[in-house]
Amino acid sequence: MIRSGRAFILCFMFLGLCGCTQSKSADASDASGAATKPAALTNSAPVPSENLPPDSSPPPHIDAAKAMQYVRQVVSFGPRYLGSPGHKKTEEFLRAHLRGDDLQEDAFSAATPAGNLPMVNFIAKFPGSENGIVVLAGHYDTLYGRNDFVGANDAASDTGLLLAIADYLRAQKKRQGYSIWLVWLDGEEAIKQWSDADSVYGAKHLATKWQKDGTAKNIKALLLADMIGDADLDIDRDQNSTPWLEDVVQQAATRLGYQSHFFQRLNAVEDDHLPFARAGVPVADLIDFTYGYNNVFWHSSQDTIDKLSPQSLQIVGDVMLETARLLPAHK
Ligand SMILES: [Zn+2]
Repeated sequence: MIRSGRAFILCFMFLGLCGCTQSKSADASDASGAATKPAALTNSAPVPSENLPPDSSPPPHIDAAKAMQYVRQVVSFGPRYLGSPGHKKTEEFLRAHLRGDDLQEDAFSAATPAGNLPMVNFIAKFPGSENGIVVLAGHYDTLYGRNDFVGANDAASDTGLLLAIADYLRAQKKRQGYSIWLVWLDGEEAIKQWSDADSVYGAKHLATKWQKDGTAKNIKALLLADMIGDADLDIDRDQNSTPWLEDVVQQAATRLGYQSHFFQRLNAVEDDHLPFARAGVPVADLIDFTYGYNNVFWHSSQDTIDKLSPQSLQIVGDVMLETARLLPAHK
């Protein structure tokens, strides 16, 4: 992702180092930068305990070493912006790993400041016992035109994590709960400069499509993962996400003992979740937007694999799956 309330503060502090100066988002953290815990965070509406657990299966546990291996492979393709050889390799990598699954390719072309560009979203569908869909999504493109940027965290981390989640779901026979659709979105990054028009192309296309064909109504929640590989993991609570869904995420994190990595900070993030929110889908963006001291690794050539940890992939992957598992009980 490219813009948030926090980004505005960073740009202000490091004018000249960062090109993003037009954020309209409000930053809810205090001026000192210390973590705040606003009163709103304590007003939780979690799943009633008598409704838990919704099934008797063990808590989710993805293969973190495998997830990390996927991330490493994706990074090895080099820069993966639209039209680059690395982008093509990533598409082929996803096709190869999802070959045996119910895979849909949502190919389209979008008008951008660089002309019409072909893009493709990948959707892998894993059925559940309940009527309804939970979408787990991320993006697989990197900063447009930047050949010095391999995007280990932004966003090979979520590209690889979703593949490890696919492995986990594939191994579950007759899974209880809602169907889970894994989505690798294309064209998240701006072509020229981040704006509503120049960003999240894949998400805009898919959200419109799902709104038109009625799919959006059947989606119980969309959980977005972005920049989730940082070894120093602190997922922000996002004010542009759906509050009750963030409460369920927090509940899932607490059930797994990972609550210290979640929601110690408030932020307001513009990311791939927003087009789906506008289509009426409950959304939660799981993003750690403090990547290195003062977020210095973000959109920098230092966004490399050595900053990442398999444990962070484990935490976010398991919490996403646990959230999906709790959702049928959230009536
Ligand atoms: Zn980005």
